[in-house]
Amino acid sequence: MQYRKDKNGQELSILGYGCMRFTKKGSGIDINKAEKEIMTAVESGVNYFDTAYIYPGSEAALGEIVERNHIRDRIRIATKLPQYMINNRNALDRYFNEELSRLRTDHVDYYLMHHLTDPAMWEKLKAIGITDWIEKKKREGSIRNIGFSYHGNTDNFLKILEDYDWDFCQIQYNYLDEVSQAGVEGLKAAYAKGIPVIIMEPLRGGKLVNMLPTGAKEAMKASGKGWSYAEWGFRWLYNQKEVTVVLSGMNSTDMVEENCRIASEAEAGSFTDKEFSTLQTVIKEIKEHEKVGCTGCRYCMPCPKGVDIPGIFRCYNAMYSETKREGRFQFAQTVGLTKEPAFATQCIGCGKCEKHCPQQIPIREKLKEADRALRPFPYRIGINAARKFMFRKSRETGA
Ligand code: SF4
Ligand code: SF4
Repeated sequence: MQYRKDKNGQELSILGYGCMRFTKKGSGIDINKAEKEIMTAVESGVNYFDTAYIYPGSEAALGEIVERNHIRDRIRIATKLPQYMINNRNALDRYFNEELSRLRTDHVDYYLMHHLTDPAMWEKLKAIGITDWIEKKKREGSIRNIGFSYHGNTDNFLKILEDYDWDFCQIQYNYLDEVSQAGVEGLKAAYAKGIPVIIMEPLRGGKLVNMLPTGAKEAMKASGKGWSYAEWGFRWLYNQKEVTVVLSGMNSTDMVEENCRIASEAEAGSFTDKEFSTLQTVIKEIKEHEKVGCTGCRYCMPCPKGVDIPGIFRCYNAMYSETKREGRFQFAQTVGLTKEPAFATQCIGCGKCEKHCPQQIPIREKLKEADRALRPFPYRIGINAARKFMFRKSRETGA
């Protein structure tokens, strides 16, 4: 296993254990199987374990396994505040104490604001006193490092990054998302500030293994490297020194052993031109299945009406390069549920964006097409209902 350092010089294994995909047994988690997998990882040097309040049964399972095996001092636990469920300061303590109890510990090593997508969400937390609360928990030693996990666009990521003295952050990043979400720009900005970056979705939820077009698979095979589809994804990430930990939701000992092998071999800065070129072919093959030739460059932004143009096009493309369901899911996550609405229907047709688009995309027309595909009737109702639920309290309090 190789290690990279956090903000305080602590060594973190470059492979982190994502605890959201433990195998189920009946209505719960197969704890004995999860224990075997976790202990295989620990014995191979993995020391970063990521869970969250809302992963069903995950915190409790991890807590039980850690206690049973007396490994609390050998590992770092990362878990997350369900910030979208928080409306007052008392709720902060309530959720945090419940998490400590589930995890059977008196402290969380890495604590994240879960799923921030825009600064408005962070502002809402600040309005209820989150920064004082964090300082207090850090003084008491029950939170060691504070960070946030992120699923919005690059501009908003940079704003949140600049707004607080974060110890770390977590972003979705993989070779297909190099210029979407926080993207390489966000990764490098965090690194420049000395903030470790934890990577989630390194294989886009398995899509870079299970949903690759034939041409992409052939390009990888033709390279002669003998790497698995997953290995290409992991090695591309480890090649970047700005990446600190790559999370993988492992649920078999074979997968743990294979991922540990890759994490012990892959080095930063070791990719050759030929390997980059192979991945360019893979990306090209994936993109050929796309609907809009948007590169995510963001020259069209900001839109005066707040439309997330590249975000909407990325999700529209994902409907065809991945699956319709996946594209709509990504849309709900990154555009549909931001506190400041960013829908295509907000477009007033001013045309400002089209003047700046190097790809000469008829953005206004394509936005309409994308919105019809991404938000057919039942999805539109669902997203509206979710928005009402998530943001009703903020409206009530004016936060
Ligand atoms: S045409 Fe629409 S999307 Fe483009 S800048 Fe104007 S309002 Fe925004
Ligand atoms: S300028 Fe064009 S290519 Fe760039 S993000 Fe906007 S729509 Fe996409």
